[in-house]
Amino acid sequence: MMVDYFGYFLLLIFFFTVMTNPIPFYQKFINLSLAFMLLYLRYNTKKEYDRKLKEEKIDPITKIPNRKGFFDIINKKIKSKEEFAFVYIDINDFKSINDSYGEEFGDYVLTEIAFRLKNKLSQKDFIGRMDSDEFALILSEKNPSNSKDFIKEFIESIDINLEIYKKIYLACGVSYYPYDAKKCEKLLLKSHMATYESKKITKEKNVINFYNEPMSKNYLVPDILKEELKSAILGEELFLMYQPVMDLKNNKLISLESLIRWKKDGEIIYPNKFIPFSEESDLILKIDQMVLNLVCRQIRMWLNEGYDVMPISVNISAKTFSEETLIKDVLKNLEMYAINPKYIALEITESAFLKNKIGAIEQMKKLKEIGLKIYLDDFGKGYSQITSLKNYPVDVLKIDRDFVKNIGENHIDEVVINYTIQLGKTLNKIIIAEGVETIEQLNYLIENNCDRVQGYYYSKPLTIEDFEKKYYKIQD
Ligand code: C2E
Ligand code: MG
Ligand code: MG
Repeated sequence: MMVDYFGYFLLLIFFFTVMTNPIPFYQKFINLSLAFMLLYLRYNTKKEYDRKLKEEKIDPITKIPNRKGFFDIINKKIKSKEEFAFVYIDINDFKSINDSYGEEFGDYVLTEIAFRLKNKLSQKDFIGRMDSDEFALILSEKNPSNSKDFIKEFIESIDINLEIYKKIYLACGVSYYPYDAKKCEKLLLKSHMATYESKKITKEKNVINFYNEPMSKNYLVPDILKEELKSAILGEELFLMYQPVMDLKNNKLISLESLIRWKKDGEIIYPNKFIPFSEESDLILKIDQMVLNLVCRQIRMWLNEGYDVMPISVNISAKTFSEETLIKDVLKNLEMYAINPKYIALEITESAFLKNKIGAIEQMKKLKEIGLKIYLDDFGKGYSQITSLKNYPVDVLKIDRDFVKNIGENHIDEVVINYTIQLGKTLNKIIIAEGVETIEQLNYLIENNCDRVQGYYYSKPLTIEDFEKKYYKIQD
């Protein structure tokens, strides 16, 4: 049986303790059997843990390292200080392949490309899948003066001629360690910039570009951010803040809303700077998935500490909300952290909901069957047909800050607020007013029977530490 050294060490100590103890032989036998059983369990748990860790770093479709796994390889290479070329590869028109021939064929194309690239690598080189249609290579012992022709020939020789689809071409970009950058993320960014230039030349040929300084100027800020954000999702740079929601009946904390932040180079970036462009790609799916996981983990941690845990609402983009995998993801997290669904609510914006009303209603029903609450966020901005609101299986309407901020100033906005509150009462929905900043706004909402409020008047979004200090009275 294969066990780690610590396991052997424990067994040895146990063996000596049992054998030198003046106890009957059958007791020694029982004790030693127990020790072996425990060791076996330890071995199996470790094996399972190792397997999970490995699985997390392998792309299930192509069976090559995924972004996380590939980052580990690059960082190891960087530690050893050996020079290498980092080749970024983007498949041209992959989306149209998927759209016209289906995802199964798309998966086949990815597997084929991974296979053909891998076949051409030497034993010292590595391949990884960085994103849906993007691969990367590490070519060892390559520098700008000894390898440009070699890499050009390498890429040109990759012939992807699939029977039912026209020839597939690749856009590639190369950066060199340590010449262009010394850190994994920066190398990736620079080879991506070179790929971006290749894409501009033609999509009807394999094109390769080598990174140079002027390329940074042509590269759009959102593109840089997008690449950096992909890395941030893997690290600890994205984190959550929690904003209290107060119940106006008793002036007590009733729930929290999780709000994402990105700590980039020491500076905090707010979601309006990165959620919109993440929504243009599948990046938002990963972000929403991560947030749901972080929230469930936080609830488990607070429950373990014995605190009075409040339900937390999680903002979910329209894209994530329309994914079938959302239900699976919710169930997986609830089970993994053994938490009651009553602790989780999902917030979907009214405008996102209106885009695909039928699909959204079906999804809401499924989520509610699990036991989650559904909030309609930014209510009032999406021009819902108010009468059909009765058919929406939502629990809460959140009146948008744009209306609340005009209390006392714009009579029409006050009418909208009042109307929403009355409608909410009739339809048995809870009303939360967002963005309450002043005592005047608060008093107006109290007078008009609003159920709950959220806003700077009570509290700005708080870090976990600040929230615990304020509400769980934890001292430093
Ligand atoms: P939202 O869901 O409507 O969140 C409320 C926003 O209003 C938050 O901004 C919050 O900090 C801000 N806010 C709350 N009270 C006040 C107030 O009294 N005055 C003012 N001026 N602002 C207040 P934040 O955190 O910047 O989030 C902006 C939007 O980004 C959110 O709007 C939500 O749509 C989106 N978002 C935030 N976190 C996530 C997330 O984890 N996933 C997704 N998909 N979207 C998120
Ligand atoms: Mg929200
Ligand atoms: Mg809102």
